[in-house]
Amino acid sequence: MVQTPSHISRATRLAPSPTGALHLGNARSFLINWLLARQNGWSIMLRIEDLDGPRVKSSADRQAIDDLRWLGLDWDHGPIYQSQRLPLYAIAIDRMIAEEKAYPCVCSRREAQLAASAPHAEDGSHRYPGTCRGRFASIESARKASGREPAIRFLVSDEVIRFTDGFAGAMQFDASDLGDFVIAKGDKTPAYQLAVVVDDTEMEITDVVRGNDLIESTFRQILLYRALGREASIPNYVHVPLVLGPDGHRLAKRHGDSRLSHYRARGVDSGNVLALLARWCGIADVPDRVDAAQLVGRFRLSQLPHVPITFTKENEALLLAGNAQ
Ligand code: GLU
Repeated sequence: MVQTPSHISRATRLAPSPTGALHLGNARSFLINWLLARQNGWSIMLRIEDLDGPRVKSSADRQAIDDLRWLGLDWDHGPIYQSQRLPLYAIAIDRMIAEEKAYPCVCSRREAQLAASAPHAEDGSHRYPGTCRGRFASIESARKASGREPAIRFLVSDEVIRFTDGFAGAMQFDASDLGDFVIAKGDKTPAYQLAVVVDDTEMEITDVVRGNDLIESTFRQILLYRALGREASIPNYVHVPLVLGPDGHRLAKRHGDSRLSHYRARGVDSGNVLALLARWCGIADVPDRVDAAQLVGRFRLSQLPHVPITFTKENEALLLAGNAQ
């Protein structure tokens, strides 16, 4: 008989990518993640996702750490840097090649790089037509035939992938619409999808809270858990709506300055920023300034708006004036 452990410890992670400054949208997702963790007794790992070489900016990791601390968010383990963990990812990649769950691909470097790029790269979700599927017997033969260092693609079989999101509800996606995706670039750098699954498995992460722009990535990640024989380790997912500009697009300079470092450098009280984030999290009657700890008892996932939040020029002006209302 299988024994159910009386207590399974739960764990989550804050996983900034040091590809730019943290903005108010990132901060809101991290705050929700942190509040759920502190409410439910999940341990928190800080993991710096610094594998996307060309896009990683020097010192953006330190700045992200300082920004999180400034907001009053803390963690129990880390920071751990993905760039220090390459051998772990290589084991998973080799295993999938050996088991014919992944194959070498010599399609143009540009296309492979775009596909392997960080999850928010505009072209990251283009479907690969399967040109190199079944084409080479080995990495070596792919290399010889093309004169290129092959990327490695995960072979996606036709099926419907399903999961139940803790916020967004029942989700499903036809895997054939994903296309075979890159799990390692030609220079052997692991792709975001692969690194996240290896890390979340190895760190025994049970709860993942992040922006809903990553839902499509979740379907890919579920396939990787299965391919690695770790289906039982698939975490609970909570995907939350993003903060957007008034035109409905991702936060950008034209919407005003939404970087936390902008407010920090101008001496804005982090309590004012948190008050704005708290309102954006559906918490009612928030005073002008609050501490993160004061929000732990007040946040309810069920009160989180299901629509995107809009960052306005007025929000910016009020924060700079020292008032979040
Ligand atoms: N590092 C990713 C990002 O900044 C988050 C990855 C994840 O939560 O799985 O968007």
